[in-house]
Amino acid sequence: MTRIDSDRWRSGGAAPCLPAALALLASCAAPASGQAPDEVETWLRELSEAPGPSGFEEPVAQLFGKFLQPLVDEIVRDSLGGVIGTRRGPEGGPRLLLDAHLDEIGFLVKRVDEAGYLRFSLLGWNTPHQLLDRRVVIHTRKGPVPGVIQTRPDPPKEKVVSRDEMFIDVGSPSKAFTEETLGIRAGDAITHESTFRRLGDPRYLLGKAWDDRSGLAVVLGAMRETRGKTLPCTLIASGSVQEETTLAGAQVVASLARPDVAITLDIDETCDQPGADPDYANAALGKGVVVILHTKEMVPQVRLRDWVLDLAKERGIPVQPMVEEGGGTDAGPIHKHGLGVPTLDLVIPQRYYHSANGVIHRDDVEAAIRLLAAVAERMDRPTLERIRPPQIR
Ligand SMILES: [Zn+2]
Repeated sequence: MTRIDSDRWRSGGAAPCLPAALALLASCAAPASGQAPDEVETWLRELSEAPGPSGFEEPVAQLFGKFLQPLVDEIVRDSLGGVIGTRRGPEGGPRLLLDAHLDEIGFLVKRVDEAGYLRFSLLGWNTPHQLLDRRVVIHTRKGPVPGVIQTRPDPPKEKVVSRDEMFIDVGSPSKAFTEETLGIRAGDAITHESTFRRLGDPRYLLGKAWDDRSGLAVVLGAMRETRGKTLPCTLIASGSVQEETTLAGAQVVASLARPDVAITLDIDETCDQPGADPDYANAALGKGVVVILHTKEMVPQVRLRDWVLDLAKERGIPVQPMVEEGGGTDAGPIHKHGLGVPTLDLVIPQRYYHSANGVIHRDDVEAAIRLLAAVAERMDRPTLERIRPPQIR
């Protein structure tokens, strides 16, 4: 808070007086533009702040299910914890799946040491830069316990502290207190403590777990956008589990949803912050929804890809095509389901991904919602037949 404030004062060029400083502090809690949050921002905030790392998605599953309920005809759960809502379309129409994942990057308690500190392992990919000095919450049978990730006194200045050298301090005098009084045990889930904020330009949104809570909000937005319209397809919205660890949830979702065609929503890294390598990622905030042209898990079905790109152009929806050299998302298992499902991966560009404090742009969320809604409105049987591989001539 202090660091952000002093940066703002520096760029403003004037020294702050106390009333101005207090007003600035107060403004952090309220929307910067003075506008009340709309429904999409409410979804983004509540989904971002809900805890739910891989394998422990229930709080966010309940929240997503609550938001999805009025937008579909029926909701079912899969046995791993995924949420699948269906809006029935015409007989013989294509089954279109819109999928995002419920889980976020988190940690697991590995062991409690003799002094009552916690050692922890990762649930999903992370770098040590993103861990030290972070506030966390340990989710125990007795309820949430706050803590902080720290390391030994006077750590080396020029070297990254590895995770092995870190521990979590939960404010405990002993191992027995940590285990018996606080109820912490090996295997308990740990999440970042991080609250949602609008930044200076209120379209820039700060929070944890935009991967993939922003994707869930986009799916909800598309379901709302198409509500009341007669669609040529059966529209299925899913929140899958365990994308960050095993991709298992998407496999189960595909079995239940039996899609003819699928769009997955996720996030990817941007190149618009200092020091970014444009060859690593070439998307920027506020420039539109990213269309993924390749990941390690999937080359998208080319006719679906081109049809969606043409549709975006026709509707004037900004898109950022991107070749991702690594990575993978729910699109991987979904496109391999059954005899194959034409699948495209759309992502929201995000700065500082897999960190406790990511930044996304509201315009990109809106572009993704519009594009998904356009896909749902157009996905009729002849379109599906054109997307599928042609007969051998
Ligand atoms: Zn993701």
